[in-house]
Amino acid sequence: MGRIIAYNTEVLPGNKLIVTIPVTKDLGIDIRIKAHILAGKHDGPTLLILSMLHGEEWFSVLIIRELIKILNTDQLRGNIIAVPVTNTSAFNTGTRCIIDNSDEPDANRSFNGKYLWISNQITRVIENELFAVSDYLIDYHVGSWGSSMADIGYGSDYADKDLVEISKGMAVSYGFPIIHAMKMFQGTHSDRTSMGCAGTKYGIPGIVPEIGGLGFGEEIEKDWLNQNIKGIIGNLKYLNMLEGTPDLCSEYLFITDYWRTSPKNAGYIETKIGLDRQFTSIKKDEHLADIIDPETFEIIEQLKSPGDGVLFYTCRNYMSRPGGWAFGIANMENGRSRWVKKEDIYLQKSPKNRIKSN
Ligand SMILES: [Zn+2]
Repeated sequence: MGRIIAYNTEVLPGNKLIVTIPVTKDLGIDIRIKAHILAGKHDGPTLLILSMLHGEEWFSVLIIRELIKILNTDQLRGNIIAVPVTNTSAFNTGTRCIIDNSDEPDANRSFNGKYLWISNQITRVIENELFAVSDYLIDYHVGSWGSSMADIGYGSDYADKDLVEISKGMAVSYGFPIIHAMKMFQGTHSDRTSMGCAGTKYGIPGIVPEIGGLGFGEEIEKDWLNQNIKGIIGNLKYLNMLEGTPDLCSEYLFITDYWRTSPKNAGYIETKIGLDRQFTSIKKDEHLADIIDPETFEIIEQLKSPGDGVLFYTCRNYMSRPGGWAFGIANMENGRSRWVKKEDIYLQKSPKNRIKSN
């Protein structure tokens, strides 16, 4: 049966429980992780859902709240462990990183760490208490206020090809048309990230859904919420944790190369294109936004598309610092990003069940 033991707490089949896992004591406050444990009525694997490793990306809290509201554990095969606020320290300051003068302030770059910084201790608890009992990972990274994200990331370059195929299957089953085939060992990614560490050290396939953001109004944000719930349900079906087959998109854009188009200078980003341009073609030099000096009101910079591509993530008008989140454009020039019809995607049908013994 779907009995699970998490942090020495036994959760019986069909039950839901919140487990509090202590991490460390900071000045005046305790740092801990509250994990919702949903034990399915039936046997199956354990899916770990993390949110808010970055302290300002709180849209994903709403996704987990909705999931817990609608999910019937009587129908669930296996278990779900869901953590709405993984990094309480950065959440407390409303910042991506932990404000503690450490040299590893970003919790999603400090897995597999050696030290005792708060980020290292949080990720160590995730590894020892949660990765150790999980078979699959979904780690949310949504937009902070003013910016939205719009892709499902998966690790495309693990040495273990089975891990790549199951991760890709999870990404496709999310039912969102933009898929980022991430290189886990390039740029800012490595085995220090959640997905990199889960894959390489624990053999756990996973995805990073990045759909949505904050400050776009209730109607749009509700739509993003629904897309994410559909995505989790699609994953549960793909992983044989719920009955049925996931709803796939008719076509997916697989992105391996993209331009992160951000302001070089701080200022008010005044957009020239709206959310209606998402997933549409953008020409080289197309005017995306003006950057306005907040003191003189002069236009100090123009954001333009660096090349021919497809717009996926975008922002609303907001005050940004240098390098802030603005636009993501899939590079369509060199053939490294391409639209693929669902019929042409190889989808590993039944993921290998690597159920950990409790
Ligand atoms: Zn993030």
